[in-house]
Amino acid sequence: MSTRQNEQLLPGIGYGTYGLSGTDATAEAVRAAIDAGYRLIDTAANYGNEAGVGEGVRTSTVPRSEVIVSSKVWPSDLGYDATLRAFEQSLATSGLDYLDLYLIHWPCSEEENAASWRALERLKQEGVVRMIGVSNFTVSHLEALLATANERPVVNQIEFHPRHYDSSIVDYCRDHTILIEAWSPLAQGVLFPAEPLVRVAAELGRSPAQVLLRWSVEQGAIPIPKSRSPQRMAENISIFDFALSDEQMNALEVLRTGERLGPDPASHHFCA
Ligand code: NAD
Repeated sequence: MSTRQNEQLLPGIGYGTYGLSGTDATAEAVRAAIDAGYRLIDTAANYGNEAGVGEGVRTSTVPRSEVIVSSKVWPSDLGYDATLRAFEQSLATSGLDYLDLYLIHWPCSEEENAASWRALERLKQEGVVRMIGVSNFTVSHLEALLATANERPVVNQIEFHPRHYDSSIVDYCRDHTILIEAWSPLAQGVLFPAEPLVRVAAELGRSPAQVLLRWSVEQGAIPIPKSRSPQRMAENISIFDFALSDEQMNALEVLRTGERLGPDPASHHFCA
């Protein structure tokens, strides 16, 4: 997928909010992220922080229309009516009039995914959501969804870092013009001491975190790193003035053990 496609729909990087808690503290972190230049804020009903995210967006100095707010429907709310109700709840909790992007958080059965997708298509038609997408969908989940969908997902948000990177889903998404958002793009810190990463970071005069985020961008994905610290927020967004060479990308391949930080979406871990 080209950077051009990314730029048309979504910024090249977003701000992750998993683990932020307390309405005031979350709102403060979100305002700091917007001040640092982030224009895509990722939350979910399951994170329990939509109130703080909404407040941060509403009270920031940047107009609401310039910030993309993304949330997600949790597996317990899959199905047509339940998804519509879950969306209403997310909107009410966040205190926002509309969401920019609304995702199915994890896939469950084909029937539930399809029913929720119809609900998302309706929300988009009604204008209360600008874009719709999915998260943690494998190729087979996407194939089944696209067989009955009227609209294709704009994004698939998946676990994505040099340790776990699934080429088949990347290729499928590229071929079907679905953008990839990279969750846990910093691999939650576990790769920071890894030798090839430290070496590449030293060669570039960048931090290991910046190299990991740039690696996502080089792969055509949109990383959504999480940090509470304004200093790290600034560090993490400063990745558009350098590139990784082919040699440096190849050097990071040795980190690809396939180990995940989260559950395998094929296991339907969160489903009833
Ligand atoms: P991450 O890879 O973004 O790592 C976050 C950790 O790295 C935090 O401990 C943070 O303090 C630290 N960190 C951040 N910047 C740093 C820096 N510059 N230097 C050193 N340490 C730094 O992990 P994550 O929060 O799991 O993932 C990011 C976002 O992805 C989440 O907040 C959430 O929005 C989203 N997410 C989505 C799903 C999903 O199922 N869709 C699952 C997990 C996460």
